[in-house]
Amino acid sequence: MLDYLIYRGGVLPPLNCALRYVLAGNGLLLQAWREHINVLVVLASYTVRGLPPLEPYLSTDLPRISPELLRQMLEICHKQRDEKGEMLEVIFHFLVEGGKWRMVVPEQEQGHTYCRPVGRGEESYRQALLEIHSHHHFPAYFSETDDLDEQGGFRFLGVIGDLFDKPQIRLRLGIYGHFIPLPATFLLALPEGLEDALSGENVNLPVNRPGSVGNAVTNRLWPIQRWSKIWKGWTGSGKGQRCYEVRTGGADDAL
Ligand SMILES: [Zn+2]
Repeated sequence: MLDYLIYRGGVLPPLNCALRYVLAGNGLLLQAWREHINVLVVLASYTVRGLPPLEPYLSTDLPRISPELLRQMLEICHKQRDEKGEMLEVIFHFLVEGGKWRMVVPEQEQGHTYCRPVGRGEESYRQALLEIHSHHHFPAYFSETDDLDEQGGFRFLGVIGDLFDKPQIRLRLGIYGHFIPLPATFLLALPEGLEDALSGENVNLPVNRPGSVGNAVTNRLWPIQRWSKIWKGWTGSGKGQRCYEVRTGGADDAL
């Protein structure tokens, strides 16, 4: 399940387990792969003398989820109330079939501050590449419970909040208990009226900029405004693969 490696140069050997911790010149990285998701991310940025740095990446061949499907999801979120009219949380599973996204509202237990798949809902949970749940009128933040629920998963995760005020969604990638914040547009074609909760926030990204080692540019905050420039710079490539680097860096870094 786990592998550990000290990186001394060249190409990383193929991953023969679920995830690998790699010590490189730019710190401690995590390498993981599953169908549709390929990631090498910096967990702890630090200059390790004598080792070459590794360039972090995250790539996927998944299409973006359409605004129509996300609008349907929001409508369903609005309808979740108990008999007293109190809002309930609701969870959605997104599965990929034949290269297309399918949204499932799984069988689930719902409460004012929780929701969890049960019965057949656990089946679609296992297959889901993305799970989104609604915090209805609460803010779009992942709670400690959300973190604990996802210690064993490797999938994208979303949380919706401020549903009636200014609907927002926050996206991250969960890798067996490691969580990487992502711009929502990485995976979602947002409909009008649904905002990325990361907008305007300073995000401490868990990866750093290749080549920054030695310049003492490590683990700084990367403002979303700059960040989004990078995200817009998708490198279209063969086989429909999207690929990008998540970077942190000093304010003077040229993009
Ligand atoms: Zn939650």
